[in-house]
Amino acid sequence: MIAKSCSITIRIEKLQALDRRIAPNHPVRRDVSTELSNRMAGYRGEKSLEFHLSMLSDSKYYIFHGLRLKYKKYFFQVDNLLLCSSFGINLEVKNMGGELHFEKNFNQMVQTKKDSSARKTNPVLQAKLQAIKLKKWLNERNCPDIPIYYLFVNSNSKTLIVSEPGNERINQHICNSEFLIEKIFQIENTNKVEVLSIKELRKIKRILLASHTPDNPEILQHFNLTQNNILPGVQCPKCHYLPMKYSRGTWFCPTCKEKSKTAHIQAVYDYFLLIKPFITNSEFRQFLHIESIHIAQKLLASMKLHFTGKFKDRVYHAPPFMER
Ligand SMILES: [Zn+2]
Repeated sequence: MIAKSCSITIRIEKLQALDRRIAPNHPVRRDVSTELSNRMAGYRGEKSLEFHLSMLSDSKYYIFHGLRLKYKKYFFQVDNLLLCSSFGINLEVKNMGGELHFEKNFNQMVQTKKDSSARKTNPVLQAKLQAIKLKKWLNERNCPDIPIYYLFVNSNSKTLIVSEPGNERINQHICNSEFLIEKIFQIENTNKVEVLSIKELRKIKRILLASHTPDNPEILQHFNLTQNNILPGVQCPKCHYLPMKYSRGTWFCPTCKEKSKTAHIQAVYDYFLLIKPFITNSEFRQFLHIESIHIAQKLLASMKLHFTGKFKDRVYHAPPFMER
C-alpha cells in the first residue's frame, strides 16, 4: 500500500508562486523558471512510476514517496522507497535521454546527446548513498537489520545505457521503468526470509512517517530577493495579468475581461507561500489592492482560515496543507 503518496512539494508550490509574481525582466527570473521546470520533471518522473508500482502486491509492500530524514546533523532525501518484511529498495528515478555511459574509472557517468556530452552526477551512486544513509538511520533507531537495495530507474525507454567493460556489476542497479517490476521480482526471489514481523514493519512505517521533515525553504532568501521584488495584486486566472480590479463582489481583468469571485484566494496563498504563513487585514489590503477594511474582512472571512487575536489585531493563518 502507499504509505506516503507522491505529491507536489511545498518547494515546488513556492517556486510556482514566485514564477507568477516576479517581474518578467528580473535577472533571477530565468533561474526560478529553470529550477521549477527541473523539479517538475522530477515530480513527473516519480508520478510515472506510480503506474508500474501499482502492479506490486498491496499487502506485501509499503511505498513511500519523498521522505526527507535527518541523519546526524544533515537531511537526506529518499525519493521512492519500497519496504517489505524481507528487504527495502531505494529507487532513484530520472528521465534522462540520449546515451548514458557508466565509466569504470572514478565511477562516473557521461550523458551523450547528439553532438554534446556532459558528465553528470552518477544516479547509481546517488541511490547507493541514500540506501546507506537509510540503513544507518534505521540502525540508529534499533530497527532489525534488513538489506536495503538500490536501483537507478530511467523513465525514458529510448535511452541507451552502456557500462564500460569491467564495470558490468553496475548493471544490476540500473533498469528502465518497463523492467522495474521484473527487477523487483528478482530481488524478491533471492530474499524470501521474513526478517520483520508485521508489527515491526508497521512500527518502521510509523517512525518513517513521523520523522519526515518537509523541505520548506525560505524561497525569497534562496534567490536573494526581498518582498519588494514580489508583484502584488490579484492575478487573472485566465491571462495572468496583475492586478485585477475589485468591484461589487467580483474581480475584473482589464486585459481579457475575465470575471472571478474567487481570484483573491490564490493571491492570499501566494502571500503565505512567499512572504509569511499569516496575514493581517491591513497586509491583505496592501497586497490585494483593496481599500475598504470591511471588504477585506469579508473576503478573509470567506476563506475560512484559522485565525488568532481579536478585531484589529486579528491574524489569519495559512491552511495546514501549506505546511507539508
Ligand atoms: Zn485576464
